[in-house]
Amino acid sequence: MENVRKKYRVLSLFIMVVLACSIILIFTYHMMRIMELYLLQGEQSIREEKEFFIKNGVDSLITDMEDAKQMEYELHEGLCAETAVHLSRHYMQTPEHFLELAIDYFSIPENQVRYDVIIEDTNSGQVLYHNGDIKTRGSLSQYEWTSYLKNTLSTYHHRTYGEIEVYWGTDASYLAEKQKIRVMRMIETSLYPKDRILWVGEVKNFEGGPDFAVLLYDSLHPYSADRLLSTADLDADGRAYFQKQLEVIKEKGQGFLNLSINEMKRNQVDELLTYFRFYPEYNLVVTMGTEIMDRDDFDRILTEKRIPIIKTMAVQIVFALLTIMAVAIFAQILIEKWYYNKAGKKLTEQVNQDPLTKIFNRRGAMSCLEATYIRYREIDENAAIVMLDVDHFKKINDAYGHEFGDQVLVRTTDAIQKHIRSTDMLARWGGEEFLLICPGLKPEYVEYFAKKILDAVGMNEYHAGEDDFHVTVSLGISFYEPDDTEYSAALKRADLAMYRAKENGRNQAAFGIDSDILYYNN
Ligand code: GH3
Ligand code: MG
Ligand code: MG
Repeated sequence: MENVRKKYRVLSLFIMVVLACSIILIFTYHMMRIMELYLLQGEQSIREEKEFFIKNGVDSLITDMEDAKQMEYELHEGLCAETAVHLSRHYMQTPEHFLELAIDYFSIPENQVRYDVIIEDTNSGQVLYHNGDIKTRGSLSQYEWTSYLKNTLSTYHHRTYGEIEVYWGTDASYLAEKQKIRVMRMIETSLYPKDRILWVGEVKNFEGGPDFAVLLYDSLHPYSADRLLSTADLDADGRAYFQKQLEVIKEKGQGFLNLSINEMKRNQVDELLTYFRFYPEYNLVVTMGTEIMDRDDFDRILTEKRIPIIKTMAVQIVFALLTIMAVAIFAQILIEKWYYNKAGKKLTEQVNQDPLTKIFNRRGAMSCLEATYIRYREIDENAAIVMLDVDHFKKINDAYGHEFGDQVLVRTTDAIQKHIRSTDMLARWGGEEFLLICPGLKPEYVEYFAKKILDAVGMNEYHAGEDDFHVTVSLGISFYEPDDTEYSAALKRADLAMYRAKENGRNQAAFGIDSDILYYNN
């Protein structure tokens, strides 16, 4: 039995452990899946954000470059207008003198590089002064001539002073150069967040090769001299970055690429995300880069964050599982105990019960005697010990059969039980002998009690064949006495009293010292 119980316990414990492990495994698996997704999602969104920012950075820089160019143009336009004002001051002079002063003005070295000029005589069409890249009018009509000048000169101005006509404008290459200088200065002084790196290169050869471009600005080394670049150059990861960049530029004019650079200060390789855009004006490529966390770094950071979460959750799960297991084991123990108690009670009942009459048997009677004797000794609570024996039972058996005899025993038991208290105890002492123990029955009530029992039994009517008859019992009553050393002394006295009652004629009770008090039931 104990073995079966152990096996059963081990089995249920094993099932619980398997269940707990499966729950932990399932949980961990899903947790990992979620983390993986989170990682991917996080990496993706960070990349998108960075792409947005560097693209924005490049676009706004190119807008600033356009603005710088325009400002330079407007500056020169203004200078040309000032020239008109300057020439007008000499208008009142004689044509010769005006011409002289105008030529003086345009011949100042500064103005000589700045302006393209043609001064003509309106009458003869003769070129009086010519400076710069513009060709002379030749046979062109006034209209053709004007549109030629408008197309050629960066800023076009035309004034007539008497017979003298002056055409001038800013020299295109001069303006372009000035603009480029201003643009480059703007780039060098432009402001953008510290974590961005800016490169501006000028493509010299779109076919690639060594020296295909020159690096005009590098925010990592802002004061270093321009550096020649080759499409064969490799980045820190061995990728031909310039080659790829040139291909993308030729195809789309802009794009994103990853670039690895050696970060000297930190002595490590940094993975950058770069965005570049081609600015056709000066064949410039504006590139902005920003560090991207590589997957390992990102994973590390996430792991650092997720480990405490996982730890707490794991502790909680283990705690919950342990609690469940403890409760389950406790419940199992309780159920077992309850079951054993119930089974034990039934067993005890069966051991102490008489199968025919369902009252206590001799064993039950003995433990009850023991208990009452202890109470008598300890708290001086006496009990009446009543021995009952069915009169002439043998005759009944013989006359009507053993089974009828059994019925007599059952009915006699029922009759007695109906007339005793719940604290009284009736037992079958053996055969047709019964023992009745009545705690607290006072001696002065014994006679009354005896009559009650004799009456109750005697009232039962029996029918067997032709016969109608009654069955009687004889009682012997005793109490515990101070000299008694065990309950059997009182039992013996009751037995003797019962024999006294038999001897005296049956259907009566005997009690008192020497069983001298007899109660007759007539
Ligand atoms: P007395 O008035 O002197 O007690 O006479 P008696 O016949 O009752 O006494 P005796 O002890 O001679 O007979 C008891 C009989 O009870 C003997 C036995 O066959 C019978 N008996 C004992 N146990 C049972 C039982 O469980 N069922 C039945 N039917 N008879 C039983
Ligand atoms: Mg007998
Ligand atoms: Mg008898």
